[in-house]
Amino acid sequence: MSNQIIEALLVLQERDTRVAALSAELEDIPARIAEVEAELAAKTERFEGLKNKARLTESERKKIDLDVQSKEAAISRYKAQQQQTRKNEEYAALNHEIEHTQKEISDLEDKELELMEAYDRGLALVAEGQKELLKAQEKAKQKKAELEKRSAALAAELVTAKEQQATAQAAVDEDAVARYRRILKSKGDSAIVPIRSGACGGCHMKLTSQTVLSARGAEALTACENCGRLVYWAGE
Ligand SMILES: [Zn+2]
Repeated sequence: MSNQIIEALLVLQERDTRVAALSAELEDIPARIAEVEAELAAKTERFEGLKNKARLTESERKKIDLDVQSKEAAISRYKAQQQQTRKNEEYAALNHEIEHTQKEISDLEDKELELMEAYDRGLALVAEGQKELLKAQEKAKQKKAELEKRSAALAAELVTAKEQQATAQAAVDEDAVARYRRILKSKGDSAIVPIRSGACGGCHMKLTSQTVLSARGAEALTACENCGRLVYWAGE
C-alpha cells in the first residue's frame, strides 16, 4: 500500500523537479537578455567616447589654427605700421612684437602638428572600434535570438511538464500530497529520499533502526527523525 504511494510520490517529485528546473531557466532568460544588451551598450559607449575624443582633438586644432591666422594678421599690421613710422624706437618696438608673435606662431604650429598626429591616431582607433562594434552588434543579435528561441522552447516544454506533473499529482492521495508538499516547501530540494547505508539520503544523518525497519516494512510513510523528509527503502 505504502509502496505504491512512495512510487507515485517519487514520480511526482521527479516531475516537480523538472517543472522547477524549466521554470527557473525560463525566468532567468530576461536577465540574460538584459546582460547581453548591457554589454553591447557599454561597448557602444566606449566607441562613442573614441569618436568624441577624436572630435575634440580636431576642434582644438581648428581653434589653434584660427589663433595662428589672427597672429599672422597682427604681424601684417605691425609691418604696415613699421612702414608708416619715422621713429626708430617705435620701429624697433614693432620689430620686437613681430619676433615675439612669430615665436608664438611657431609654438602654436608645433602644437597643431601634435594634434594632427593625435587626430590621425584617433581616427585609426575609431575605424578599428567601428569594426569591433559591428562584430559585437552582430554577436549580441545572435545571442538574443538564441535566448528568445530557447525561451519559446522552454515555455512549450513547461506546458507539457506541468501536464505531466498534474497527472502525477492526481495519482497520489491528497493527504500524502499535502504532506509531501509541506516537506518540499521547507526543504527546497527534495521531500522523499532513499535510505543509503542506514542514513537519510537528504540530510545524511544515521537513522534509528526503528525508522529503517518502518521504512522497510512500508506499512506507512516514514520520515527521517532529523530532517523530516520522507525516507524509503531502496534495497541495500
Ligand atoms: Zn534526513
